[in-house]
Amino acid sequence: MTDKEPLGLYLHVPFCKKRCAYCSFYSSFDSEELKDEYTKRLITVIKERGGKISRPVNTVYFGGGTPSLLYERLSIIMQAVREAFSVTGDAEITLEVNPGGDTERILSAAANAGINRLSVGVQSGSDKMLALLGRTHTAKDAIDTVSAARKLGFKNISADIMIALPGSDIKSLENDIDFVCALKPQHISAYILKTEENTLFYKKAKTLDLPDDDGAADQYLYLCRCLKSRGFNHYEISNFCLDGMESRHNLKYWDCSEYLGIGPSAHSFLNGKRFHYPENLHGFLKGCDPVPDGDGGDAEEYIMLSLRLGRGLLFDGYRKRFGSNPPEKIINTAKPLEKVGLCRITENGISLTDRGMAVSNSIITEFLESME
Ligand code: SF4
Repeated sequence: MTDKEPLGLYLHVPFCKKRCAYCSFYSSFDSEELKDEYTKRLITVIKERGGKISRPVNTVYFGGGTPSLLYERLSIIMQAVREAFSVTGDAEITLEVNPGGDTERILSAAANAGINRLSVGVQSGSDKMLALLGRTHTAKDAIDTVSAARKLGFKNISADIMIALPGSDIKSLENDIDFVCALKPQHISAYILKTEENTLFYKKAKTLDLPDDDGAADQYLYLCRCLKSRGFNHYEISNFCLDGMESRHNLKYWDCSEYLGIGPSAHSFLNGKRFHYPENLHGFLKGCDPVPDGDGGDAEEYIMLSLRLGRGLLFDGYRKRFGSNPPEKIINTAKPLEKVGLCRITENGISLTDRGMAVSNSIITEFLESME
């Protein structure tokens, strides 16, 4: 890593109107006063950190939470980012947006702040399902948000879709895929619903009629086939895009590039070290420092993250980074997996098939255990 290697900047905005039934991300309730305080503190930290980093920033990502609830504060924050960091002219600047609410105000504020990519939390095309998920919007809100965004000139729009939802089957998934594709996004992120601890769904999991692991894998494979047939490249386990429309920011996480995260629960990988801010808004406001997580970017981590990508682990990339071939044990582990259709081995590298991606956790664990 050179000191000129461009950096990604992640800003975690921990406010939501209401907690969704399945969500375990860190967020706090929506309060104008707290958002003002947060913005002030965020700008102070941006200035402090920017003053010590000379590397250019070529991606900025406002994640959350619901960062679109910052409205006009987005411009003040982006101004601070541009003053503190050397943001490249072609930087990808993403804002996560939930449909509904004051769409016009949100989108104008985003455009004024120089945001050029939106990630819209569509999730499903069924109002009944959206209500069950605890979302605060309808399917029509998603249509209106994307259409208003297009009118304002946004050309790079990603849509989130959730699969393996309560009571779902291939037919309901097909409806959701049709709905999301009709929005004509350049990028789709698809997440398999997991009942995480400390969520409402976790408490009532037994009553939810959730598909079992096989059912969830079938839905995932169906989604992969469907999106491919509609021209989307499957470039990461959960991510699909039209040609050239990958999320440049998120690619940094998977190809082990460096990024700085600011805000409660934000993670960073900088100068070879990983660290994170605790999940505590008030701690962040009081000026608490990030907590170290040790060294990052070693061979194991690189292999584990590369295998998430459609292109997989590229031998050349590994050699450039570590100065040697990948361990022979990796190839030996891949051979039997290739025989059962879970991965591919070529002269360039190793990648998971869609079936392999459907069970990626256990396969990647197998690769890592082979290196111990
Ligand atoms: S899913 Fe998004 S909008 Fe819903 S509670 Fe979580 S962060 Fe907030």
